[in-house]
Amino acid sequence: MWVPEGDTVWRSCQRLNEVLAGRELTRSEFRVPTLATTDLTGVTVRAVVSRGKHQLFRFANDFTLHTHFRMEGAWRIYPRGRKWTGGPDFQIRAVLATADHDAVGYRLPVTELLPTADEASVVGHLGPDLLGPDWDLDEALRRISLQPDRTVGEALLDQRNLAGIGTFYRAELLFLQGLHPRTPVAAVPNLRRVVQRGQQLLYANRWRPEQSTTGDLRPNRRAYVFERPGQPCRRCGTLIRTEEFGTPGQERRSYWCPRCQPSPSTGSANRALPVR
Ligand SMILES: [Zn+2]
Repeated sequence: MWVPEGDTVWRSCQRLNEVLAGRELTRSEFRVPTLATTDLTGVTVRAVVSRGKHQLFRFANDFTLHTHFRMEGAWRIYPRGRKWTGGPDFQIRAVLATADHDAVGYRLPVTELLPTADEASVVGHLGPDLLGPDWDLDEALRRISLQPDRTVGEALLDQRNLAGIGTFYRAELLFLQGLHPRTPVAAVPNLRRVVQRGQQLLYANRWRPEQSTTGDLRPNRRAYVFERPGQPCRRCGTLIRTEEFGTPGQERRSYWCPRCQPSPSTGSANRALPVR
């Protein structure tokens, strides 16, 4: 299943910012119980920014609308008068309209309004944003290294370490680095290079809707291992494997080539780690 990652959220917020920033809202609508009576008509949008996979709409009244796509959410922009096509009406959670555009939020699992001064309460826990203006490689490495026994696969997905990587980029990045997803952080030979490469992958994809790590934009050619279980590795022909792992309740699916990304326990370094 395709899931929004940091680059998708970044691109979405760039477009929202283009059509909303500096404009006055001619209509607002929130189809969530806590905001049912909220009306932002007449309020000017200051900016729309992304933090990891979160979206922040800052308004001139010093409030911020916080939304998050999680698995299926999306913001769609339509020129005024154009039909909305992002899904059935019951999936709409928020509408922000200006004289020229309608921005419609579909399937948003998080839709909340808070004082702009309190944004840290919803995004303050995030690690450095891979696509943010304040991206900080050293800080991301410091946070990841705090848990040296954790698997690199879990560490890269943890948005408190660094914000923006989801299961697509994790799978592809680890393939490109020849790392099995269950390799302990402490056993990764060049963690700095891994994180740098991850940032480059997101950055390279930030403007295009088709995420690709292979450089090929044709359907079914965009990934090395992601969602290719049982298919031959593009590099060595070995069949790609998959499993779900992670903290109980937060297991996520990983994909790897057993030849290009050997299990850490088959080497001499760590025989104690379970293999599957
Ligand atoms: Zn391979």
